[in-house]
Amino acid sequence: MDTTTMRATTAGRARRRPKTYGGDRICGHGVCETKLSRYNRNEYCFQHAPARFPRMRGEFTEEYMAKNS
Ligand SMILES: [Zn+2]
Repeated sequence: MDTTTMRATTAGRARRRPKTYGGDRICGHGVCETKLSRYNRNEYCFQHAPARFPRMRGEFTEEYMAKNS
């Protein structure tokens, strides 16, 4: 076993700290009080985060159903 390599690897890892975004943040949506993880860089909880692609929003329109059924 190569102890020199071992030590170098450990030291490198110890210095790299995970990026965090603050402790007690809540969702930026008006009435939503969902807490955000400090590792979540988004401003909103997963329910209110802007979607990158169209998806369900709790109600189906006829157009939506026609396209996706
Ligand atoms: Zn929310």
